[in-house]
Amino acid sequence: MTQSSFDIAVIGAGHGGVELVAALRQHGYQGSIVLISDEADVPYQRPPLSKDYIKRAANTPALVLKPENFYADNAIDLRLGVKAEAIDRQNRSVSLSDGDSISYGHLVLATGARNRKPPVPGLDHPEILQLRTLADANRIVHALPKTKHIAVIGGGFIGLEAASLLRAMGIDVDVVEMAPRLMQRAISEAASAWFLDHHRGKGSNVHLSTSVSSVQHGTGGAKVQLSDGNALEADAILLAAGVEPNTDLAAACGLEIANGIAVNEHLLTSDPAISAIGDCASYPSRHLGGMARLEAVQNAVDHARCVAERFTGQAKPYDALPWFWSIQGAARLQIAGLSRPGLTEVIRKGADESRFSVFLYDGSELVAVESVNSPADHMAARKLIGSGIALTPAQAGSPQFDLKALISAHR
Ligand SMILES: Cc1cc2nc3c(=O)[nH]c(=O)nc-3n(C[C@H](O)[C@H](O)[C@H](O)COP(=O)(O)OP(=O)(O)OC[C@H]3O[C@@H](n4cnc5c(N)ncnc54)[C@H](O)[C@@H]3O)c2cc1C
Repeated sequence: MTQSSFDIAVIGAGHGGVELVAALRQHGYQGSIVLISDEADVPYQRPPLSKDYIKRAANTPALVLKPENFYADNAIDLRLGVKAEAIDRQNRSVSLSDGDSISYGHLVLATGARNRKPPVPGLDHPEILQLRTLADANRIVHALPKTKHIAVIGGGFIGLEAASLLRAMGIDVDVVEMAPRLMQRAISEAASAWFLDHHRGKGSNVHLSTSVSSVQHGTGGAKVQLSDGNALEADAILLAAGVEPNTDLAAACGLEIANGIAVNEHLLTSDPAISAIGDCASYPSRHLGGMARLEAVQNAVDHARCVAERFTGQAKPYDALPWFWSIQGAARLQIAGLSRPGLTEVIRKGADESRFSVFLYDGSELVAVESVNSPADHMAARKLIGSGIALTPAQAGSPQFDLKALISAHR
């Protein structure tokens, strides 16, 4: 008989959900665990989907987060292709799309995010490509052999990662970005400008401060009408216009929502029997000085570990330093800390034009560092910001100043 009552139920088997169940067992948690995923595939990593996977350099087995037998071997009831449809907080139960219902001692929402679809005529057409799931990536892989020209809608991380891969495969690429600069929400002006040159230098057409007004689909492709009056004829369109958190389930059962499922410093929602982690959770961040909702593997994994530690007797407030990465052709971008508008940008040059870091200051406080092809700067930045080691803008801007020695002096 299928078990229906669990000490911990986790909804969503992405980076957060899988890390949580693994960390619970790693810390010796003995209770019963169910992990519910509405995707049919064995839980997998998303970052390679916009990197090696679409150029066929990674295969599906290489993507899995844990080998398939991991779940049974660790007494984790993994239910694939099953959607959690409603939460009954009073009875601590969740009804599932397969007709089953489970009850929980504690519920963790790790429901992630879904692609945002701007309300533009023609963008909801079935031919439009997206990139969130393995199924999405497989659709792109199948479309590529007949693609000569692609319009990428959105100049954020995922759109640009895909654009650089597709361009390197000889496909004509147009990137259409509404904002006046690339990755505006996430990176400094200096880094944005460098990436604009980088993509244009590789032959992508980048349209800034331009939105898509409509898409008309024909037999051999589509016509993308732009806000500046121009139009693009493309045989494929990739929509990469950002994501929105999956909060519907939480909202429907009355949990507090504030740009994500609102949680406290212990990642507990407004119901103490329910936690939320990863892309779907909005949490109080010391590093931002307010509520943050991040879309990054580090965030999902560190949230998961924090919750697992709470269940295994080591509860502490969540305080991890955020960090991110993105690979766009030969450019590897790594970010430590959280950027925000109005910061002072200090450039630290590397050995050549393709290597540098931008140190971002709020007054005299270093709050974030963006490194391009400079992994040593990134590792140093994580230690400097994470440990609150003072680095003056003059020191940051001097490539001769030894960051490693400064860190060692504070050990
Ligand atoms: C193409 C791509 C490239 C990326 N590259 C990077 C990168 O280079 N670096 C980086 O740091 N981050 C990257 N990210 C972001 C990173 O993958 C996410 O931040 C991370 O996956 C978040 O993990 P999560 O567990 O919170 O959510 P997700 O991984 O989104 O998992 C949530 C899961 O919950 C499921 N779910 C939702 N609702 C229900 C329900 N009601 N019932 C059952 N299941 C449900 C969803 O279908 C999904 O499987 C990338 C993302 C994408 C899509």
